[in-house]
Amino acid sequence: MAEIKVQNLTKKFGDFTAVDNVSITIADKEFVVLLGPSGCGKTTLLRAIAGLGMADSGVITIGGRDVTYLPPRERNLSMVFQSYAIFPHMKVFDNIAFGLKMHGADQKEIDKRVNEAAELLHIENLLDRFPSNMSGGQRQRVAVARGIAMKSEVLLMDEPLSNLDALLRLEMRAELKRLLAGIDATTIYVTHDQIEALSMGDRIAVMQSGVIQQCAHPTTVYDLPDNHFVGSFIGNPPMNFFHAQVEKHDGKILAKVGDYHITPHQVMAPLLQKYEGENMMMGIRAENMETLDSPADDALKVQVLVVEPLGSQNLLTVRIGDDTVKVSTHPDLKVASNDYVWLRFPADKIRWIDRESQRVIYPS
Ligand code: ATP
Repeated sequence: MAEIKVQNLTKKFGDFTAVDNVSITIADKEFVVLLGPSGCGKTTLLRAIAGLGMADSGVITIGGRDVTYLPPRERNLSMVFQSYAIFPHMKVFDNIAFGLKMHGADQKEIDKRVNEAAELLHIENLLDRFPSNMSGGQRQRVAVARGIAMKSEVLLMDEPLSNLDALLRLEMRAELKRLLAGIDATTIYVTHDQIEALSMGDRIAVMQSGVIQQCAHPTTVYDLPDNHFVGSFIGNPPMNFFHAQVEKHDGKILAKVGDYHITPHQVMAPLLQKYEGENMMMGIRAENMETLDSPADDALKVQVLVVEPLGSQNLLTVRIGDDTVKVSTHPDLKVASNDYVWLRFPADKIRWIDRESQRVIYPS
């Protein structure tokens, strides 16, 4: 059992707080991705779990054992770094065997584990080569092979695909996912690439400014972000946000965009009362609006600013009030710049956001 539990962890560099009172539990054999923009504290948190940077406060347990003050080698984990960190003067075999040797494994065991790891990563024919004679992708595989050869119960990976070109990255992403599913380690995987996070993680912990903003299954993080930041960080295009004025009409509470009324979901309506007279933020994904090429009573008229044909969809840029919104449409819908289209907003796809706290108040 290798559950990782981080409780109230804070790490500062001088006056700067890189990780701010973070708590997260990663279940045994779970694959959690730490995702967030550059500088949000992902690597600092991972390094603290690895024992490579002592936390200022907080507790870290692995498999129920308090490791907060233990050095890395006593934490029984493997780490794969962004920069490969493979030794240029050692052949691939010795690079993969390095950790095993350090742990005093006998030669027979070393041979077995190195060959197994090399086979899994399809680099068995490279064992006799020096890293300088290999491509970036092959070196990256060596680094991953070294990480998994240890068969540690915990695997920490920091942007292991970051040095690869886009195509190789795409290939390796799927390969790595297959591989990690087969080795049963509790894994924390750091990336700033949200597609990688969505496609690989059992759960995604989205970080900003040293704080975990949301930790949930990829589809939850995508569809039901807890706040504006998560919606704006996840997805390509990110979630759209526009503003609407909350008003009462004929005793019914609703949100107005120009002359257009958005009637809230019946569960939402009572929550909306306290926003009467205020401006509220609404969030909706590009693919969740319905686009019509002729007027309808329940649809908002908007002018198309830009049409981007992307093959499987056309991405329209329109304006709703003062906000720019991206709308995904079927390529068969023939629209050009400056045309008008009419948008429907299904009630169950709208996320209602409190402007002050930036939190999604419905659905939550
Ligand atoms: P990236 O995706 O760019 O690697 P990250 O989310 O992993 O970013 P960290 O490397 O954890 O971010 O850094 C978090 C913050 O802490 C950054 O602002 C960084 O400049 C700062 N930081 C990291 N290490 C140190 C250090 N040794 N001394 C001072 N500041 C540091």
